[in-house]
Amino acid sequence: MRRSVPQHIAMNFFTAGSTFKAFKTLATHLLGSSCALCGKHHAGLLCSGCRTRYTANSVARCRRCAIALHAAHSDCGACTAHPPSFDASFAVTDYAAPTDALVQALKFGAQLPLAAAFADLLMNVVPSKAVASASLIMAVPLSTERMAERGFNQAHEIAKPLARQWQLPLATELCVRVRNTEPQSSLPLAQRRGNMRGAFTLMRRDRVVGQHIVLVDDVMTTGETLEALAATLKRNGAARITNLVFARTPAR
Ligand SMILES: [Zn+2]
Ligand SMILES: [Zn+2]
Repeated sequence: MRRSVPQHIAMNFFTAGSTFKAFKTLATHLLGSSCALCGKHHAGLLCSGCRTRYTANSVARCRRCAIALHAAHSDCGACTAHPPSFDASFAVTDYAAPTDALVQALKFGAQLPLAAAFADLLMNVVPSKAVASASLIMAVPLSTERMAERGFNQAHEIAKPLARQWQLPLATELCVRVRNTEPQSSLPLAQRRGNMRGAFTLMRRDRVVGQHIVLVDDVMTTGETLEALAATLKRNGAARITNLVFARTPAR
């Protein structure tokens, strides 16, 4: 399903001239008193209409990988055929227009207050029982190079309010990304798994043995990044992995 981009965002993003200006214009909607997607007067990121339309529980998702499904409460074909290393995933929205513009504003426009808004939306889609047994929360780490380039890890910014809300310790340097892998979306499918192999190194095995760990990322595209991280944690004795992402790339 292809959704159209709301007119005022399309204008800002595609005709404003500079990307920076577009992000700034979007940010005034995001953090002001109007809905970021439709422009309607509203305190907070999204009005209730856009929340219903673009987020949350209106879409059935695979319990394992959170990909949008036609039927509720089942695993997708891919997860049934090849169960991933993680046990469950939750997503707020599809990574598609118009909500993908919000992710880009956070990541490339450094609109950090969006991270807290994403966390709020996540709290609404994650049932408390799904994280009740969790003992640790961590963001998917960026490589040192990418961290230096961006100055912040958007996933960590989303994880902070979640850790506070659920009173979970937020791990910061438990796992490091040892290789600056190519962005998954730029690679052909066959190369993606190989691209992620050996991407993460666990620093403290004693922190993960027997634990239920919550992983946070802004976007889950192919799932290979979270798979590589979850596989590293499971290999080292983690008992359960739950992924929380703001946006999930839909099946093509
Ligand atoms: Zn709206
Ligand atoms: Zn699945």
